[in-house]
Amino acid sequence: MLTSLDGKSALVTGASKGIGKGIARVFARHGAKVLVVARNLDAAEATAAEIVAAGGNASAFAADIRELDTMEAAAAAAVDRHGSLDILCANAGIFPQAKIEAMTPDQWDEVIDTNLKGTFISVKACIPALKVSGEGRIVITSSITGPVTGYPGWTHYGASKAGQLGFLHTACIELARYGITVNAVLPGNIVTEGLEGLGGDYLKTMAASIPLKRLGSVEDIGYAALFLASKEAGYITGQTIIVDGGQILPESLEALNA
Ligand code: NAP
Repeated sequence: MLTSLDGKSALVTGASKGIGKGIARVFARHGAKVLVVARNLDAAEATAAEIVAAGGNASAFAADIRELDTMEAAAAAAVDRHGSLDILCANAGIFPQAKIEAMTPDQWDEVIDTNLKGTFISVKACIPALKVSGEGRIVITSSITGPVTGYPGWTHYGASKAGQLGFLHTACIELARYGITVNAVLPGNIVTEGLEGLGGDYLKTMAASIPLKRLGSVEDIGYAALFLASKEAGYITGQTIIVDGGQILPESLEALNA
């Protein structure tokens, strides 16, 4: 049983839906005060209201992870409303598909700007408050796609998600002096609004390719993030946890179905 997050203040980007919403729900159930961050304020407020209705402590803030000033304002709001900022979940991201031959430089830039530069900006904006916390935790949502696997149409996405791990390996050293840990969760295929947008055929084929024979839930990722944000994970930094139902392991269809 992990120590609860009672009294801890968490900022979760991309928490209006999908994996971020799952993380926010799990953290709130375990005592954290959660700032739900996304660009669409109505959607963020709806998520915060759901968490409050379930007995948790949450409120919403509109910010774009590509813009340092709005992320600094989000970090300041977490401190104003909750008295501190102890945990950043840099989760927001996008995954549009385009094969290299058809991809425009603008499409490349949009994904790298959001997923990779947005991670840097989210972390940078929160460092001053996390330093004050003294036991700061940063949990980045990367992916198996890029760091471990590949999928046609996602060269930009895979590069952004692998890039997050390159960022993590040095960020954890730079921030260790402040007692801040930096780790990442690498989800496999998780049922979210974003993933459902890829279509029923994609979801069915993916579920069949996973040893546990199901897609992951947002709470599966929420619990991995909860561990990395916990007091008990205080000596873990610069590390990754793959949460994918075993998806990356079968070396062939025969291995999967034997
Ligand atoms: P999702 O359902 O599409 O939700 C994305 C969230 O990010 C929304 O809250 C969205 O809100 C927010 N967002 C997007 N761009 C933003 C920006 N520029 N600034 C602030 N917020 C922004 O996506 P998801 O499936 O939950 O994915 C979440 C993260 O998990 C991503 O980093 C993704 O790469 C990673 N991941 C997902 C899967 C999966 O299977 N679902 C697998 C591996 C990794 P607004 O649009 O209102 O801003």
